[in-house]
Amino acid sequence: MSSTEPSTEPEAPPGRPPAPASGTSTPAPAAAPLLPGSPAARAAGCACSVLANAAYRCGASTSPLIEPTCVVHLEPT
Ligand SMILES: [Zn+2]
Repeated sequence: MSSTEPSTEPEAPPGRPPAPASGTSTPAPAAAPLLPGSPAARAAGCACSVLANAAYRCGASTSPLIEPTCVVHLEPT
């Protein structure tokens, strides 16, 4: 038995963290603000008007319409 294993494998350069596998989409941040009237906000119990906040969500308006009954955007003090 004569096994000659050539060790031509170069050493990894230091200071180089392993790159993550590409192809995976960036995970959505958990602290993402729920836009008033957005489906995600509505699913969380948002009571804000969908149509009234359509302009705000698309950037046409800078002031959202927060309903006084919304438990998502109207935090109790
Ligand atoms: Zn809301």
